[in-house]
Amino acid sequence: NYNVKFNGGMFTETNELARTLNTASYEMQKTDFYQRDLIANVSHDLKTPLTMIKSYAEMINDISGDNPEKRKEHLKVIITEADRLNKLVSDMLSASKIQSNTLELDKEIFDLVAVTEEIVATYKVLNEQNGYHIRLNKCKAAYVYGDKEKIKQVLSNFVSNAIKYCGEDRVVIVEVKRIGKKVRVDVIDHGDGIASDELSHVWERYYRTSANRNRSIEGSGLGLSIVKGILVLHNANYGVKSKVGQGSDFWFEMDTVKKPTDTECKNKTHG
Ligand code: ADP
Repeated sequence: NYNVKFNGGMFTETNELARTLNTASYEMQKTDFYQRDLIANVSHDLKTPLTMIKSYAEMINDISGDNPEKRKEHLKVIITEADRLNKLVSDMLSASKIQSNTLELDKEIFDLVAVTEEIVATYKVLNEQNGYHIRLNKCKAAYVYGDKEKIKQVLSNFVSNAIKYCGEDRVVIVEVKRIGKKVRVDVIDHGDGIASDELSHVWERYYRTSANRNRSIEGSGLGLSIVKGILVLHNANYGVKSKVGQGSDFWFEMDTVKKPTDTECKNKTHG
């Protein structure tokens, strides 16, 4: 609360100042809130897999060491949780590199259609046995110049989110098509969708929509901020269309380039 006195022309200026201070203070409170929330979230996210790893290692030590079946089961949990921890820590590292503008690209010419196919195939293997249907509608090869591994990360993030948030429908559609000189990938689900006032925030670090914040669906809120960082570095267009109750369509598009010759493929360029 600021005391703003009417004093001729001063009114507007003081009022302006008060408004600016108010906004700044709101922003600071928001940042502070996010920082505190962030530490709480991150500690929780790191602690959960660590606790699981420790408990299951203790179980092997105490009870399942002599039982090959049980031991295998318990070791599987340890491996899954260690993978989760690994992913979380690498996401935190990527997010931090993006924030400090130190994320580097290792660029080469590659076929975005083939890479999309590869990612879809991986998610099919992992999820179709659990009743998910992942469909791919694709065009002919479309070459782009970019960091293949990081573009794979973008695709993985969109597809894994679509699987996570597709609800009862369990259908995910991936489309890769040419639009003039560009190639565009859409990852579509028919899940709960995202409210319009939250849409622009989903690309922010640690942001999770109110609908998902308290649900058991796991997530750090880091994925899309990393996606945004990677796509911005590639000068790619990206966005999301979503309607509550109807689902979401996360997309990006890149410029196509000429198919590389065999020698160009062998001499991968950097930078
Ligand atoms: P998270 O690890 O929480 O999934 P992301 O950064 O990938 O983090 O996504 C941020 C938030 O955006 C998610 O927590 C979720 O609320 C929302 N979101 C992302 N993808 C979808 C989707 N396909 N449908 C509905 N909500 C989504």
